[in-house]
Amino acid sequence: MAKAETADGEAAPAEAGRDFIRDIVKRDLDSGRIKEVVTRFPPEPNGYLHIGHAKSICLNFGLAQEFGGRCHLRFDDTNPAKEEQEYIDAIERDVRWLGFDWGSHLHHASDYFEQLYAWAEDLIQAGLAYVDDQSQEEIRTNRGTLTEPGRNSPFRNRSMEENLDLFRRMRAGEFPNGARVLRAKIDMASGNINLRDPVLYRIIHAAHPRTGTAWKIYPSYDFAHGQSDAIEHVTHSICTLEFEDHRPLYDWFIQHLKVPSEPHQYEFARLNLSYTVLSKRALTRLVQEGHVSGWDDPRMPTLAGLRRRGVPPEAIRDFIRRIGVAKANSLVDVSMFEFSIREILNRRARRRMAVLRPLKVIIENYPEGQVEELDAANHPDDALAGTRKIAFGRELCIERDDFMENPSKKFFRLSPGTEVRLRYAYFITCREVKKNTTGEPVELRCTYDPATKGGSAPDGRKVKATIHWVSAAHAVPAEVRIYNPLFTEPEPSVGDDLEAHLNPNSIEVLRDARLEPALGADDDLAPVQFERQGYFCRDPDSAPGRPVFNRTIGLRDTFAKDASKAGP
Ligand code: ATP
Ligand code: MG
Repeated sequence: MAKAETADGEAAPAEAGRDFIRDIVKRDLDSGRIKEVVTRFPPEPNGYLHIGHAKSICLNFGLAQEFGGRCHLRFDDTNPAKEEQEYIDAIERDVRWLGFDWGSHLHHASDYFEQLYAWAEDLIQAGLAYVDDQSQEEIRTNRGTLTEPGRNSPFRNRSMEENLDLFRRMRAGEFPNGARVLRAKIDMASGNINLRDPVLYRIIHAAHPRTGTAWKIYPSYDFAHGQSDAIEHVTHSICTLEFEDHRPLYDWFIQHLKVPSEPHQYEFARLNLSYTVLSKRALTRLVQEGHVSGWDDPRMPTLAGLRRRGVPPEAIRDFIRRIGVAKANSLVDVSMFEFSIREILNRRARRRMAVLRPLKVIIENYPEGQVEELDAANHPDDALAGTRKIAFGRELCIERDDFMENPSKKFFRLSPGTEVRLRYAYFITCREVKKNTTGEPVELRCTYDPATKGGSAPDGRKVKATIHWVSAAHAVPAEVRIYNPLFTEPEPSVGDDLEAHLNPNSIEVLRDARLEPALGADDDLAPVQFERQGYFCRDPDSAPGRPVFNRTIGLRDTFAKDASKAGP
């Protein structure tokens, strides 16, 4: 498979790792069991893709790249009650953005509905499937438990003719939802509950995004999945561990149907990430109940949310590569993900100055109306990134937190009488503090030393701190959104009480931020580092003259110290 071009022009390199799945594929190629590896990524279009899906995408597409095979994108669209075109479009966009390409292999389980139906009739004719009139509730109770065998349905011994007739009438739409199902006739006493006459078809009167109202019955996941793999000549059908107990059923269908190839299923551990919920049901609720602004809310662990947050696709791939693929479930610390994000952004992001919570500074000995242009480097480790001009004048803004009227022992930034360096500019000393009626500082009167231009003093005197600033007259007003984890616990045990686990401080909106003018451009989507603050990106909510920036992540790993305040 060729390298994939993503929306932002980055290609996902074929980076080989080592894990038990790669070992299996290598062995199968070496032994000649297969000539070419064929995998698939099989999302159900009932929600947006999240960072957990990224693990499966990187594994399936990665195998195809590394071993010169192919990977299909197959929509597992067998339940029209929950699936929507919006999700189909979002999934395609997000897989591409992550850096992968399915080429001509975009498939749908619904492409195979006719063939799957024919195989179901074959099973009926072979005496291996029957129409069951029990209610969903009866089927559930009669299925038994892990310690008790199930009970045979009273409809289990219908004649082949009657089964065929009823199944055809199910297809024709003669019966309402839930009236009957088609079940495989396997073994109600099996130790594996999945083999206790699993449901193959349900009656669902609902329009399907692709097949419209053509079908009144829809295959179950189990009946559709393996056979779709077989039709597509998938060699390694890779899924998460919860499907391990479905494997005997997967194999049973492959054995009992005249399928064109014999795929095998392999299971790996799903990704669990601390402070993060990856259940589609919970994510859907967050969106539908309005706890977030949408599937692409920058707090969401969805690929759309991460993209809007400013996380580069390379950072996601790097993280997935680092965590590897194993067979035991575990919880990955979200700070590992943050590490990958910082690695990539540190290399890529241009440096800029921005003041998030401004405090006015007047340089008393700087001539009124004078402006000078200073040079500032775009990247400290990359001379090729060049420099830019920043305006310096009499009136500046600094960060409120960079000033303390009564400094504590360890505070070396600005305070009355102390001298600090303004980044790329001069040394300044605070002479006087002006306060509002509630006693908060609103303006600092300072002086500068003209001999310190560029940031060092000819007499060799030192300052203990360098702070960032912007020129009040030139700065662009902006909104800056700071994100914190959506959930307060490392392992949110989210059930019906979703709200109880939400972090009330997951977003902080700073409406009075000031950016250096270079950040005013309306169309620049590249990541930036606001010096001393973190990595940021422009949000689509930006309006002309009123940019909105999202904090992707802070500069340091503050997570360990205070999870409720840290980002990723
Ligand atoms: P559900 O089946 O509840 O709708 P799902 O998360 O399994 O949710 P699918 O669309 O079926 O959603 O998932 C597509 C593929 O992604 C499956 O092969 C699934 O195993 C894999 N996948 C889903 N979640 C994770 C995860 N957290 N880690 C790794 N792979 C995952
Ligand atoms: Mg699933």
